[in-house]
Amino acid sequence: MHTVYLALGSNIGNRHDNLCAALSMIENRIGHIMLQSDFITTAPQGFDSPNQFLNMVLSLHSNLTPTQILDITQDIERQLGRNQKSTNGIYHDRTIDIDILLYDDLHIKSPRLTIPHPRMTHRTFVMQPLTQIAPNLIIPGETQTTTQLLTQLNTTH
Ligand code: ADP
Ligand code: MG
Repeated sequence: MHTVYLALGSNIGNRHDNLCAALSMIENRIGHIMLQSDFITTAPQGFDSPNQFLNMVLSLHSNLTPTQILDITQDIERQLGRNQKSTNGIYHDRTIDIDILLYDDLHIKSPRLTIPHPRMTHRTFVMQPLTQIAPNLIIPGETQTTTQLLTQLNTTH
């Protein structure tokens, strides 16, 4: 059994319903959700959009490999995206984005998958909900806890 952390975000349509739909698909297809953060509202980072995000992080237990999990999260993104009519032409807005943050203590670098997620420690919208559910977690490759990393992130911005 492997411990996996996922980050979810949505900034179009009914964002709350999008996250809830993704959560139930994740539970059904990937594994049992152990902990889930609150949903937080955040401004888009890295691109301009009037649509704010709803973000959350969860941990789950799964027997699947990282690649199998990516196949399923991408399939869930496609399934939920297909129900949205307004996505055409708006490249960066997302009905649902699911990123794999951590898979046990593994380091993975392949063309499709980098774990730990390479930008996670720079993103408040990931580190804040991650710290809520795992305040003492040390991300593989880091020396400080999530709480310490989040404090630094908040003081440097
Ligand atoms: P982003 O999440 O950065 O906005 P996308 O969701 O479009 O971008 O993902 C782009 C690509 O990132 C995917 O095709 C996937 O193969 C790759 N990828 C690499 N590492 C990861 C990871 N840890 N979790 C999810 N996708 C990843
Ligand atoms: Mg993604």
